[in-house]
Amino acid sequence: MNKNYDFCQAILRAKLTQLTQSTQISAIQMKVFKFGGASINSIERIQNVAKIIESFAGEKLLIIISAMGKTTNALEKIAEAFYAGNKEEALQLFRQIKAEHLDILSQLNPQEVSILNDLFTEVEWLLHDKPVRDYDYYYDQIVCCGELLSTAIVSNYLNVTGVKNLWADVRDIVRTDDNFREANIDWAFTQKKIHENIVPLFETLDIIITQGFIGATDENESTTLGREGSDYTAAVFANMLDAESQTIWKDVEGVMNADPKLFPDAQFISKLSFREVIEMAYYGAQVIHPKTIKPLQNKGIPLHVRCFLKPTSPGTIISERPIHNLPPIIVLKNNQVLMQFNSKDFSFVEDTLVNKLHQLFVDIKIRPNLSQNGAISLYCCLDDRPEKIEKLALAASELFDVQVEKEVLLLTVRHYNDTIVAALTENKIELLSQKTKETIQVLMKNS
Ligand code: ASP
Ligand code: MG
Repeated sequence: MNKNYDFCQAILRAKLTQLTQSTQISAIQMKVFKFGGASINSIERIQNVAKIIESFAGEKLLIIISAMGKTTNALEKIAEAFYAGNKEEALQLFRQIKAEHLDILSQLNPQEVSILNDLFTEVEWLLHDKPVRDYDYYYDQIVCCGELLSTAIVSNYLNVTGVKNLWADVRDIVRTDDNFREANIDWAFTQKKIHENIVPLFETLDIIITQGFIGATDENESTTLGREGSDYTAAVFANMLDAESQTIWKDVEGVMNADPKLFPDAQFISKLSFREVIEMAYYGAQVIHPKTIKPLQNKGIPLHVRCFLKPTSPGTIISERPIHNLPPIIVLKNNQVLMQFNSKDFSFVEDTLVNKLHQLFVDIKIRPNLSQNGAISLYCCLDDRPEKIEKLALAASELFDVQVEKEVLLLTVRHYNDTIVAALTENKIELLSQKTKETIQVLMKNS
Protein backbone atom coordinates (compact mmCIF):
# COMPACT_ATOMS: atom_id res chain seq x y z
CA MET A 1 0.00 0.00 0.00
CA ASN A 2 2.68 2.38 1.14
CA LYS A 3 4.89 1.39 -1.73
CA ASN A 4 2.09 2.00 -4.16
CA TYR A 5 1.47 5.41 -2.67
CA ASP A 6 5.17 6.34 -3.00
CA PHE A 7 5.11 5.16 -6.55
CA CYS A 8 2.07 7.33 -7.39
CA GLN A 9 3.73 10.30 -5.68
CA ALA A 10 6.86 9.75 -7.74
CA ILE A 11 4.86 9.67 -10.97
CA LEU A 12 3.03 12.83 -9.94
CA ARG A 13 6.29 14.61 -9.17
CA ALA A 14 7.76 13.51 -12.49
CA LYS A 15 4.66 14.77 -14.32
CA LEU A 16 4.82 18.06 -12.46
CA THR A 17 8.48 18.58 -13.37
CA GLN A 18 7.71 17.72 -16.98
CA LEU A 19 4.88 20.23 -16.97
CA THR A 20 6.92 23.04 -15.45
CA GLN A 21 9.77 22.32 -17.83
CA SER A 22 7.55 22.47 -20.88
CA THR A 23 5.84 25.63 -19.68
CA GLN A 24 9.24 27.16 -19.02
CA ILE A 25 10.29 26.49 -22.60
CA SER A 26 7.12 27.80 -24.15
CA ALA A 27 6.97 30.68 -21.65
CA ILE A 28 9.92 32.24 -23.46
CA GLN A 29 8.25 33.49 -26.61
CA MET A 30 10.72 34.05 -29.38
CA LYS A 31 10.93 34.81 -33.04
CA VAL A 32 13.34 33.35 -35.54
CA PHE A 33 14.77 35.67 -38.20
CA LYS A 34 16.79 34.77 -41.26
CA PHE A 35 18.65 37.40 -43.24
CA GLY A 36 19.90 36.40 -46.68
CA GLY A 37 23.30 37.22 -48.20
CA ALA A 38 21.99 40.25 -50.12
CA SER A 39 20.86 41.93 -46.89
CA ILE A 40 24.47 42.32 -45.68
CA ASN A 41 26.45 42.82 -48.88
CA SER A 42 27.59 46.36 -47.99
CA ILE A 43 28.29 48.52 -44.94
CA GLU A 44 25.00 50.37 -45.45
CA ARG A 45 23.06 47.14 -45.67
CA ILE A 46 24.64 45.74 -42.51
CA GLN A 47 23.69 48.97 -40.77
CA ASN A 48 20.19 48.59 -42.17
CA VAL A 49 19.92 45.04 -40.79
CA ALA A 50 21.13 46.34 -37.43
CA LYS A 51 18.34 48.95 -37.46
CA ILE A 52 15.74 46.29 -38.23
CA ILE A 53 16.99 44.15 -35.36
CA GLU A 54 17.02 47.18 -33.03
CA SER A 55 13.40 47.90 -33.88
CA PHE A 56 12.47 44.61 -32.20
CA ALA A 57 14.00 45.69 -28.87
CA GLY A 58 12.61 43.76 -25.94
CA GLU A 59 11.74 40.70 -28.00
CA LYS A 60 13.65 37.42 -27.95
CA LEU A 61 15.23 36.78 -31.34
CA LEU A 62 17.21 33.89 -32.72
CA ILE A 63 18.85 35.28 -35.83
CA ILE A 64 20.41 33.36 -38.68
CA ILE A 65 22.46 35.24 -41.24
CA SER A 66 23.79 33.96 -44.57
CA ALA A 67 27.24 34.49 -45.98
CA MET A 68 27.78 38.00 -47.36
CA GLY A 69 26.66 38.64 -50.93
CA LYS A 70 28.23 36.11 -53.24
CA THR A 71 30.76 34.73 -50.75
CA THR A 72 29.43 31.16 -51.00
CA ASN A 73 30.03 31.13 -54.78
CA ALA A 74 33.54 32.49 -54.24
CA LEU A 75 34.27 29.83 -51.64
CA GLU A 76 33.06 27.15 -54.05
CA LYS A 77 35.73 28.34 -56.48
CA ILE A 78 38.36 27.93 -53.76
CA ALA A 79 37.22 24.38 -53.04
CA GLU A 80 37.45 23.58 -56.77
CA ALA A 81 40.94 25.06 -57.11
CA PHE A 82 42.15 23.27 -54.00
CA TYR A 83 40.76 19.94 -55.16
CA ALA A 84 42.28 20.36 -58.61
CA GLY A 85 45.65 20.66 -56.87
CA ASN A 86 46.00 24.41 -57.53
CA LYS A 87 47.05 25.30 -54.03
CA GLU A 88 48.46 28.73 -54.89
CA GLU A 89 45.29 29.74 -56.71
CA ALA A 90 43.15 28.53 -53.79
CA LEU A 91 45.25 30.47 -51.29
CA GLN A 92 45.19 33.56 -53.46
CA LEU A 93 41.39 33.43 -53.79
CA PHE A 94 41.10 32.96 -50.05
CA ARG A 95 43.29 36.01 -49.45
CA GLN A 96 40.68 38.00 -51.37
CA ILE A 97 37.88 36.70 -49.14
CA LYS A 98 39.97 37.60 -46.11
CA ALA A 99 40.67 41.09 -47.37
CA GLU A 100 37.00 41.76 -48.15
CA HIS A 101 35.82 40.62 -44.73
CA LEU A 102 38.60 42.45 -42.87
CA ASP A 103 37.79 45.60 -44.80
CA ILE A 104 34.12 45.46 -43.81
CA LEU A 105 35.02 44.65 -40.22
CA SER A 106 37.45 47.55 -39.97
CA GLN A 107 34.91 49.99 -41.39
CA LEU A 108 32.25 48.86 -38.95
CA ASN A 109 34.52 48.60 -35.95
CA PRO A 110 38.04 50.04 -36.41
CA GLN A 111 39.09 48.78 -32.95
CA GLU A 112 38.42 45.15 -33.72
CA VAL A 113 41.03 43.13 -35.57
CA SER A 114 41.16 39.63 -34.21
CA ILE A 115 37.68 38.10 -34.08
CA LEU A 116 37.99 36.54 -37.54
CA ASN A 117 41.48 35.10 -37.14
CA ASP A 118 40.55 31.67 -35.85
CA LEU A 119 37.99 31.27 -38.62
CA PHE A 120 40.56 32.21 -41.27
CA THR A 121 43.13 29.85 -39.79
CA GLU A 122 40.71 26.93 -39.89
CA VAL A 123 40.50 27.21 -43.70
CA GLU A 124 44.10 28.19 -44.39
CA TRP A 125 45.39 25.27 -42.41
CA LEU A 126 43.35 22.95 -44.63
CA LEU A 127 44.38 24.66 -47.87
CA HIS A 128 48.00 23.85 -47.11
CA ASP A 129 47.14 20.15 -47.12
CA LYS A 130 46.87 17.86 -50.14
CA PRO A 131 43.41 16.55 -50.97
CA VAL A 132 43.13 12.87 -50.06
CA ARG A 133 39.41 12.61 -49.34
CA ASP A 134 36.25 13.21 -51.43
CA TYR A 135 35.62 16.59 -53.00
CA ASP A 136 32.36 17.01 -51.06
CA TYR A 137 34.22 16.74 -47.76
CA TYR A 138 36.62 19.58 -48.65
CA TYR A 139 33.79 21.63 -50.10
CA ASP A 140 32.07 21.64 -46.70
CA GLN A 141 35.22 22.42 -44.69
CA ILE A 142 35.90 25.45 -46.91
CA VAL A 143 32.43 26.73 -47.81
CA CYS A 144 31.16 26.74 -44.20
CA CYS A 145 33.37 29.70 -43.31
CA GLY A 146 31.18 32.17 -45.24
CA GLU A 147 28.40 32.16 -42.66
CA LEU A 148 30.83 32.02 -39.73
CA LEU A 149 32.59 35.19 -40.92
CA SER A 150 29.44 37.16 -41.76
CA THR A 151 27.72 36.37 -38.47
CA ALA A 152 30.85 37.19 -36.47
CA ILE A 153 31.02 40.60 -38.14
CA VAL A 154 27.34 41.45 -37.70
CA SER A 155 27.26 40.20 -34.11
CA ASN A 156 30.32 42.29 -33.26
CA TYR A 157 28.86 45.38 -34.90
CA LEU A 158 25.58 45.01 -33.02
CA ASN A 159 27.41 44.66 -29.72
CA VAL A 160 29.51 47.79 -30.27
CA THR A 161 26.39 49.75 -31.20
CA GLY A 162 24.74 48.64 -27.97
CA VAL A 163 22.49 45.86 -29.27
CA LYS A 164 23.60 43.15 -26.89
CA ASN A 165 23.77 39.72 -28.46
CA LEU A 166 25.64 36.47 -28.37
CA TRP A 167 27.34 34.79 -31.34
CA ALA A 168 26.98 31.01 -31.38
CA ASP A 169 28.87 28.59 -33.61
CA VAL A 170 26.01 26.50 -34.94
CA ARG A 171 28.38 23.57 -35.43
CA ASP A 172 28.19 23.06 -31.66
CA ILE A 173 24.41 22.74 -31.92
CA VAL A 174 23.31 21.32 -35.25
CA ARG A 175 24.55 17.74 -35.52
CA THR A 176 24.40 16.04 -38.91
CA ASP A 177 25.47 12.82 -40.60
CA ASP A 178 28.50 12.85 -42.92
CA ASN A 179 26.59 13.09 -46.17
CA PHE A 180 28.75 16.09 -47.10
CA ARG A 181 27.13 18.88 -49.14
CA GLU A 182 23.70 17.47 -48.38
CA ALA A 183 23.99 16.49 -44.76
CA ASN A 184 20.95 15.30 -42.83
CA ILE A 185 20.23 16.74 -39.41
CA ASP A 186 20.26 14.45 -36.38
CA TRP A 187 16.98 15.69 -35.05
CA ALA A 188 17.13 14.23 -31.54
CA PHE A 189 20.70 15.33 -30.80
CA THR A 190 20.11 18.84 -32.16
CA GLN A 191 16.89 19.22 -30.17
CA LYS A 192 18.74 18.23 -26.99
CA LYS A 193 21.53 20.74 -27.69
CA ILE A 194 19.04 23.52 -28.33
CA HIS A 195 17.27 22.84 -25.05
CA GLU A 196 20.50 22.55 -23.11
CA ASN A 197 22.58 25.29 -24.71
CA ILE A 198 20.25 27.81 -26.33
CA VAL A 199 17.04 27.95 -24.30
CA PRO A 200 18.75 28.84 -20.97
CA LEU A 201 20.63 31.70 -22.67
CA PHE A 202 17.34 33.38 -23.52
CA GLU A 203 16.57 33.73 -19.81
CA THR A 204 19.11 36.53 -19.53
CA LEU A 205 19.64 37.54 -23.14
CA ASP A 206 17.41 38.75 -25.97
CA ILE A 207 19.41 38.09 -29.12
CA ILE A 208 21.40 35.11 -30.32
CA ILE A 209 23.13 35.26 -33.69
CA THR A 210 24.12 32.09 -35.43
CA GLN A 211 24.56 30.45 -38.84
CA GLY A 212 22.30 28.51 -41.15
CA PHE A 213 23.29 26.05 -43.86
CA ILE A 214 26.07 24.42 -41.83
CA GLY A 215 26.42 21.83 -39.11
CA ALA A 216 28.94 19.27 -37.88
CA THR A 217 29.28 15.51 -37.59
CA ASP A 218 29.96 13.64 -34.37
CA GLU A 219 33.63 13.82 -35.35
CA ASN A 220 33.50 17.62 -35.52
CA GLU A 221 33.83 17.77 -39.27
CA SER A 222 31.93 20.69 -40.78
CA THR A 223 29.01 19.88 -43.06
CA THR A 224 26.62 21.84 -45.27
CA LEU A 225 22.94 21.17 -45.85
CA GLY A 226 22.66 22.09 -49.55
CA ARG A 227 22.68 25.52 -51.23
CA GLU A 228 20.24 28.04 -49.82
CA GLY A 229 19.97 25.85 -46.73
CA SER A 230 19.78 28.71 -44.20
CA ASP A 231 16.01 29.00 -44.56
CA TYR A 232 15.81 25.37 -43.54
CA THR A 233 18.11 25.78 -40.53
CA ALA A 234 15.97 28.71 -39.39
CA ALA A 235 12.88 26.49 -39.62
CA VAL A 236 14.61 23.77 -37.61
CA PHE A 237 15.38 26.29 -34.86
CA ALA A 238 11.83 27.67 -35.01
CA ASN A 239 10.44 24.16 -34.62
CA MET A 240 12.73 23.18 -31.76
CA LEU A 241 12.32 26.47 -29.91
CA ASP A 242 8.54 26.47 -30.42
CA ALA A 243 8.98 29.95 -31.88
CA GLU A 244 5.94 32.16 -32.38
CA SER A 245 6.97 32.89 -35.97
CA GLN A 246 9.81 32.76 -38.49
CA THR A 247 10.67 35.69 -40.73
CA ILE A 248 12.82 35.47 -43.84
CA TRP A 249 14.12 38.93 -44.78
CA LYS A 250 14.73 39.19 -48.52
CA ASP A 251 15.34 41.86 -51.16
CA VAL A 252 11.85 41.42 -52.60
CA GLU A 253 8.50 42.60 -51.28
CA GLY A 254 7.43 39.03 -50.42
CA VAL A 255 6.40 36.00 -52.43
CA MET A 256 5.44 36.74 -56.03
CA ASN A 257 3.45 34.57 -58.44
CA ALA A 258 6.45 34.39 -60.81
CA ASP A 259 10.10 35.39 -60.88
CA PRO A 260 9.98 39.17 -61.46
CA LYS A 261 13.30 39.00 -63.34
CA LEU A 262 11.67 36.81 -65.98
CA PHE A 263 8.11 38.15 -65.75
CA PRO A 264 7.98 41.89 -65.15
CA ASP A 265 4.21 41.69 -64.51
CA ALA A 266 4.68 39.34 -61.58
CA GLN A 267 2.16 39.95 -58.80
CA PHE A 268 2.82 40.10 -55.08
CA ILE A 269 0.84 37.61 -52.97
CA SER A 270 0.04 38.65 -49.40
CA LYS A 271 -1.16 35.31 -48.02
CA LEU A 272 -0.27 31.74 -48.88
CA SER A 273 -0.75 28.33 -47.33
CA PHE A 274 2.06 25.95 -46.38
CA ARG A 275 0.63 23.52 -48.91
CA GLU A 276 0.92 26.03 -51.76
CA VAL A 277 4.46 27.06 -50.87
CA ILE A 278 5.75 23.51 -50.53
CA GLU A 279 4.34 22.80 -54.00
CA MET A 280 5.90 25.97 -55.43
CA ALA A 281 9.29 25.13 -53.94
CA TYR A 282 9.03 21.55 -55.16
CA TYR A 283 8.46 22.72 -58.73
CA GLY A 284 11.52 24.94 -58.50
CA ALA A 285 10.27 28.38 -57.47
CA GLN A 286 13.27 30.12 -55.93
CA VAL A 287 11.23 31.51 -53.06
CA ILE A 288 12.22 29.41 -50.09
CA HIS A 289 14.32 26.31 -49.63
CA PRO A 290 11.91 23.37 -50.15
CA LYS A 291 12.74 21.73 -46.81
CA THR A 292 11.75 24.87 -44.85
CA ILE A 293 8.03 24.26 -44.75
CA LYS A 294 7.77 20.90 -43.01
CA PRO A 295 9.32 21.88 -39.64
CA LEU A 296 7.08 24.96 -39.51
CA GLN A 297 3.90 23.20 -40.62
CA ASN A 298 4.49 20.43 -38.08
CA LYS A 299 4.34 22.97 -35.25
CA GLY A 300 1.88 25.41 -36.83
CA ILE A 301 4.47 28.22 -36.85
CA PRO A 302 3.66 30.96 -39.41
CA LEU A 303 6.34 32.04 -41.88
CA HIS A 304 6.70 35.68 -42.88
CA VAL A 305 8.61 36.71 -45.99
CA ARG A 306 9.51 40.38 -45.68
CA CYS A 307 11.66 42.92 -47.46
CA PHE A 308 14.72 44.29 -45.63
CA LEU A 309 14.58 47.36 -47.86
CA LYS A 310 11.00 48.12 -46.80
CA PRO A 311 10.86 46.92 -43.20
CA THR A 312 7.48 48.54 -42.55
CA SER A 313 5.59 46.58 -45.18
CA PRO A 314 4.08 43.34 -43.91
CA GLY A 315 5.25 41.05 -46.72
CA THR A 316 3.75 37.62 -47.29
CA ILE A 317 2.32 35.51 -44.47
CA ILE A 318 2.40 31.76 -44.95
CA SER A 319 0.37 29.62 -42.60
CA GLU A 320 -1.81 26.54 -42.26
CA ARG A 321 -4.93 28.36 -43.51
CA PRO A 322 -5.97 27.37 -47.04
CA ILE A 323 -6.06 30.38 -49.36
CA HIS A 324 -8.49 30.46 -52.27
CA ASN A 325 -8.57 32.38 -55.55
CA LEU A 326 -4.84 32.50 -56.02
CA PRO A 327 -3.52 33.93 -59.28
CA PRO A 328 -1.75 31.48 -61.63
CA ILE A 329 1.63 30.72 -60.13
CA ILE A 330 4.37 30.33 -62.72
CA VAL A 331 7.69 28.54 -62.36
CA LEU A 332 10.01 28.44 -65.35
CA LYS A 333 13.12 26.32 -65.04
CA ASN A 334 15.69 26.63 -67.79
CA ASN A 335 18.83 24.59 -68.19
CA GLN A 336 16.96 21.31 -68.29
CA VAL A 337 17.69 18.11 -70.20
CA LEU A 338 15.21 15.57 -71.45
CA MET A 339 16.56 12.05 -71.19
CA GLN A 340 14.82 9.25 -72.96
CA PHE A 341 15.54 5.72 -71.78
CA ASN A 342 14.44 3.24 -74.45
CA SER A 343 14.23 -0.48 -74.03
CA LYS A 344 17.03 -2.16 -76.01
CA ASP A 345 15.04 -5.13 -77.28
CA PHE A 346 11.41 -4.04 -77.25
CA SER A 347 10.78 -5.50 -73.80
CA PHE A 348 8.54 -3.36 -71.60
CA VAL A 349 10.14 -0.80 -69.32
CA GLU A 350 8.89 -2.40 -66.13
CA ASP A 351 9.63 -2.49 -62.41
CA THR A 352 13.05 -4.15 -62.44
CA LEU A 353 14.49 -1.83 -65.04
CA VAL A 354 12.82 1.24 -63.55
CA ASN A 355 14.12 0.32 -60.08
CA LYS A 356 17.63 -0.02 -61.43
CA LEU A 357 17.35 3.40 -63.03
CA HIS A 358 16.08 4.93 -59.78
CA GLN A 359 19.03 3.41 -57.96
CA LEU A 360 21.28 5.24 -60.42
CA PHE A 361 19.51 8.52 -59.57
CA VAL A 362 20.16 7.88 -55.89
CA ASP A 363 23.82 6.93 -56.44
CA ILE A 364 24.52 9.95 -58.64
CA LYS A 365 22.46 12.22 -56.35
CA ILE A 366 20.23 13.61 -59.07
CA ARG A 367 16.46 13.79 -59.03
CA PRO A 368 14.16 14.01 -62.06
CA ASN A 369 11.97 17.10 -62.12
CA LEU A 370 9.36 15.23 -64.12
CA SER A 371 9.08 11.73 -65.53
CA GLN A 372 6.69 9.86 -67.76
CA ASN A 373 6.41 6.19 -68.63
CA GLY A 374 5.60 4.63 -71.99
CA ALA A 375 5.54 0.96 -73.05
CA ILE A 376 9.14 0.73 -74.11
CA SER A 377 10.52 4.07 -73.03
CA LEU A 378 10.80 6.30 -70.02
CA TYR A 379 11.22 10.08 -70.19
CA CYS A 380 12.89 12.12 -67.47
CA CYS A 381 13.54 15.81 -67.24
CA LEU A 382 16.52 16.73 -65.08
CA ASP A 383 18.61 19.78 -64.19
CA ASP A 384 21.49 20.01 -66.64
CA ARG A 385 24.46 19.40 -64.39
CA PRO A 386 26.81 18.19 -67.13
CA GLU A 387 29.07 15.88 -65.10
CA LYS A 388 26.08 14.16 -63.49
CA ILE A 389 24.16 13.82 -66.75
CA GLU A 390 27.20 12.31 -68.41
CA LYS A 391 27.65 9.83 -65.56
CA LEU A 392 23.96 8.93 -65.67
CA ALA A 393 23.87 8.50 -69.45
CA LEU A 394 26.91 6.27 -69.32
CA ALA A 395 25.65 4.06 -66.49
CA ALA A 396 22.12 3.84 -67.91
CA SER A 397 23.40 2.86 -71.34
CA GLU A 398 24.06 -0.61 -69.89
CA LEU A 399 20.31 -0.97 -69.45
CA PHE A 400 18.74 1.23 -72.15
CA ASP A 401 19.35 3.06 -75.37
CA VAL A 402 19.75 6.56 -74.01
CA GLN A 403 18.92 9.81 -75.81
CA VAL A 404 19.73 13.20 -74.35
CA GLU A 405 18.15 16.45 -75.46
CA LYS A 406 19.64 19.66 -74.04
CA GLU A 407 18.47 23.29 -73.75
CA VAL A 408 15.02 22.36 -72.62
CA LEU A 409 12.68 24.51 -70.52
CA LEU A 410 10.31 23.20 -67.88
CA LEU A 411 7.25 25.34 -67.33
CA THR A 412 4.98 24.72 -64.36
CA VAL A 413 1.76 26.65 -63.81
CA ARG A 414 -0.38 26.15 -60.74
CA HIS A 415 -3.99 27.34 -60.85
CA TYR A 416 -3.61 27.53 -64.62
CA ASN A 417 -6.09 28.53 -67.27
CA ASP A 418 -5.97 28.04 -71.04
CA THR A 419 -5.15 31.66 -71.80
CA ILE A 420 -2.09 31.80 -69.62
CA VAL A 421 -0.77 28.44 -70.80
CA ALA A 422 -1.25 29.49 -74.44
CA ALA A 423 0.60 32.74 -73.80
CA LEU A 424 3.49 31.03 -72.03
CA THR A 425 3.95 28.32 -74.65
CA GLU A 426 3.66 30.62 -77.67
CA ASN A 427 6.52 30.14 -80.15
CA LYS A 428 7.76 27.12 -78.27
CA ILE A 429 8.06 23.50 -79.36
CA GLU A 430 6.25 21.31 -76.85
CA LEU A 431 8.05 18.08 -76.07
CA LEU A 432 5.85 16.65 -73.37
CA SER A 433 3.16 17.82 -70.97
CA GLN A 434 1.40 16.61 -67.85
CA LYS A 435 -1.50 18.03 -65.92
CA THR A 436 -3.66 17.59 -62.87
CA LYS A 437 -6.63 19.77 -61.88
CA GLU A 438 -4.30 22.21 -60.13
CA THR A 439 -1.00 22.02 -62.00
CA ILE A 440 0.20 21.82 -65.56
CA GLN A 441 3.79 21.11 -66.58
CA VAL A 442 5.09 21.59 -70.09
CA LEU A 443 8.52 20.58 -71.30
CA MET A 444 9.44 22.75 -74.24
CA LYS A 445 12.18 24.20 -76.43
CA ASN A 446 12.61 27.57 -78.04
CA SER A 447 11.61 27.29 -81.69
N1 ASP B 1 25.12 30.90 -48.10
C1 ASP B 1 24.50 29.71 -48.58
C2 ASP B 1 24.12 29.81 -50.05
O1 ASP B 1 24.32 30.86 -50.64
C3 ASP B 1 23.32 29.30 -47.78
C4 ASP B 1 22.18 30.28 -47.71
O2 ASP B 1 22.37 31.47 -47.86
O3 ASP B 1 21.06 29.85 -47.49
O4 ASP B 1 23.66 28.85 -50.62
MG1 MG C 1 20.40 32.98 -50.05
